[in-house]
Amino acid sequence: MRYSVADVFNMLGEEALNINEEGYRRNRKSIEVEGFQVYTESLRYATFYQKGCACVACGKVGTYFELDPGDNPGRRHFNLYAEDGTLMTKDHIVPTSRGGKYNSVENLQAMCVRCNRAKGANMC
Ligand SMILES: [Zn+2]
Repeated sequence: MRYSVADVFNMLGEEALNINEEGYRRNRKSIEVEGFQVYTESLRYATFYQKGCACVACGKVGTYFELDPGDNPGRRHFNLYAEDGTLMTKDHIVPTSRGGKYNSVENLQAMCVRCNRAKGANMC
């Protein structure tokens, strides 16, 4: 099932979307979607909300979310996709291997998975 970007941002709420640092150490809030628990705080969601849903490298735009399974069978998370099904990811602007912050939205930007892989391959 596809969810619009606006609907998902609305479900997650402003407070969760405006975080700047990873919230794993905090008591993260969850919402229930399709019977699954979904964390509202995520650096991915915050990056897409604060920095935009377009790939900074190729311009491909994330236009819908799907609720995908993760490691925990009781939980799911939203993934953002472009119209052609390309997964949108968060990219570290300054790679952590070069001292960039791992857990801060300031050092993150939206990038499609293809450009992110290509960038990663060129890092060594
Ligand atoms: Zn791209």
